[in-house]
Amino acid sequence: MTVNLLDFDLEGLTAFCEQLGEKRFRAVQLFRWIHQKGASRFDEMTDLAKSLREKLPSVCTITPLPVLSRQDSADGTIKWLFDVGDGNAVETVFIPEDDRGTLCVSSQAGCAVGCRFCSTGHQGFSRNLSTGEILAQLWYAEHFLRRHLNSPERVITNVVMMGMGEPLQNYGALLPALRTMLDDHAYGLSRRRLTVSTSGVVPFMDRLAQDCPVALAVSLHAPNDALRDSLVPLNRKYPIAELLDACLRYLPAAPRDFITFEYCMLDGVNDQPEHAQQLLDLVRRHGGRGVPCKINLIPFNPFPDSGLRCSPRAAVLRFGQMLNEGGVVTTVRKTRGDDIDAACGQLAGDVLDRTNAAKRLAQRRQIIEQPVRVVGRGPAPVKEGQA
Ligand code: SF4
Repeated sequence: MTVNLLDFDLEGLTAFCEQLGEKRFRAVQLFRWIHQKGASRFDEMTDLAKSLREKLPSVCTITPLPVLSRQDSADGTIKWLFDVGDGNAVETVFIPEDDRGTLCVSSQAGCAVGCRFCSTGHQGFSRNLSTGEILAQLWYAEHFLRRHLNSPERVITNVVMMGMGEPLQNYGALLPALRTMLDDHAYGLSRRRLTVSTSGVVPFMDRLAQDCPVALAVSLHAPNDALRDSLVPLNRKYPIAELLDACLRYLPAAPRDFITFEYCMLDGVNDQPEHAQQLLDLVRRHGGRGVPCKINLIPFNPFPDSGLRCSPRAAVLRFGQMLNEGGVVTTVRKTRGDDIDAACGQLAGDVLDRTNAAKRLAQRRQIIEQPVRVVGRGPAPVKEGQA
């Protein structure tokens, strides 16, 4: 099988070059051509020795992912659907803002965690992406955008591993991908601008802290175990107390001095004042001194058969106000790319449910709390931002 050079971080590429009898500086040159200049052909790499340029095509390739479709939102958001073979597709979303460009990257085709409010979770799990398939999303998007915007500068300044899949359940492929994103010879992202989002795979949170500490976002979504068990099934394995302990262990290595907790606002399910109070108690008191954190409230994006509704805006703002008044910085995520179904939790691709996930989720729905009517107060001053 031919080696795909997108599968390597610089260390891996150096080892590969050494097998070919080439020195490390050749690996650095190759790495820069691929990731900084977006080259996909060896004959473009003019500063490589001619003999090496002629040898490389017989032993390796630079194989991007085929693009199945691209959708452009009126707000500038772009969503790509990439073909990863065998009828599987993954989505990648670029979100431009005044001061940054964020790429939301997928780590798996489908997802085995099966969160109740997540469109990807409803598909079931197909397979892990390789390092090359994770990096190919950034590689393609960055160089497409540079050409499109006629920009000699880097366009993607932030990457969030928040697309399809649970990144920490694909740790072996994730780690070289993160290292390449951080590498100054490749994308040169800062650790603060590279975020891994997890539903709480505790052992790999500890591994990430040791191996490659980047910003961490944790999908919390509920302030108690009974409710979180029904929304994020992984909670049965790693309940909230264990998850928050892992957050406290992560923080000393983290590039930021707080954890971001993601909280999807579900009408009558997790959006009541008592939930806000429980959440405050949890993050302020866990472990005696609390968990330094920011909370990001995410308006739920409904999808067919979810059986869930988005909290009314007044309820979202009231919830945020309670948290802010309780001393926990809370923002409400701006919804982007609504017109192309690119918003958080909507990434599904044109993929079939192969694992009876929908059936399992329907059973779980029966044990979830019944909707409670919200008696809204007026809008409250909660900061809005893209966390
Ligand atoms: S929210 Fe994340 S972990 Fe949960 S099902 Fe969706 S992709 Fe998987």
